[in-house]
Amino acid sequence: MENEEMKPDTSGAGESDMALPKKRFQAKIEDFTCEKCGFAVVGNGFTNHCPKCLWSKHVDKNPGDREEKCGGLMKPVGIEGTQAKYNLLYKCEVCGYQNKNKVSDKDDFEAVLKVARAKKPE
Ligand SMILES: [Zn+2]
Ligand SMILES: [Zn+2]
Repeated sequence: MENEEMKPDTSGAGESDMALPKKRFQAKIEDFTCEKCGFAVVGNGFTNHCPKCLWSKHVDKNPGDREEKCGGLMKPVGIEGTQAKYNLLYKCEVCGYQNKNKVSDKDDFEAVLKVARAKKPE
């Protein structure tokens, strides 16, 4: 009769102490070049569209989260609201997603008017 020694089982169970990198949420201030007109947009943490041609980019699922992978250009297709508070209506050229953005006082008002004239709500 042989005595079997208890051996530690070294197969299988891997080490699971790999720490996940912690992500912190922070408002990102990013400068970007408008992919539509080439204007160098200076970010202020809220910038989501080009003040020159008003085109935006489909990068957010919720405002500011930059979680959307689409990345399509968002075309300003209309204006809604009253003189005190305009919203730009957007449509993504790639996936058709529609969205709206507040018009900022940095925006080229001529461009805003052009969008407003292009499509008047009935
Ligand atoms: Zn632009
Ligand atoms: Zn899209």
